[in-house]
Amino acid sequence: MIFVKNFNSISSQEWKTSEKYPGVRWKFLVDADIDGSKGISCGFAEVLPGGKLTLHHHAPDEIYVVTNGSATLNKDGELEEIKKGDVVYISNNAKHALKNNTSETFGFYWLFPTDRFKEVEYFSDE
Ligand SMILES: [Zn+2]
Repeated sequence: MIFVKNFNSISSQEWKTSEKYPGVRWKFLVDADIDGSKGISCGFAEVLPGGKLTLHHHAPDEIYVVTNGSATLNKDGELEEIKKGDVVYISNNAKHALKNNTSETFGFYWLFPTDRFKEVEYFSDE
């Protein structure tokens, strides 16, 4: 199976949000539940100005690929500014968070080595 997705491919998909993550919204691009893909999954998320993905961890490793703006990455207590073009590797169960203190939307793709996003259980560390 090979397919191509881009942001226009998913324009009809509603943004997902959660009360736990104010100012954060996301869509799914590669997911077993959508196209029957397997082994890896991918989505796109935006952190709006002032928004934050609060401190959390999960069992699967994760990669972020930053496409827009900049944000503060919390690496288990250590802060680092990340920006467009950066790639972030997060090992399993490492606590992490994102905060957008800028006036520009921060956008990134995330990748999980799971068939579907639904398999990733989020544990809050707030
Ligand atoms: Zn994560």
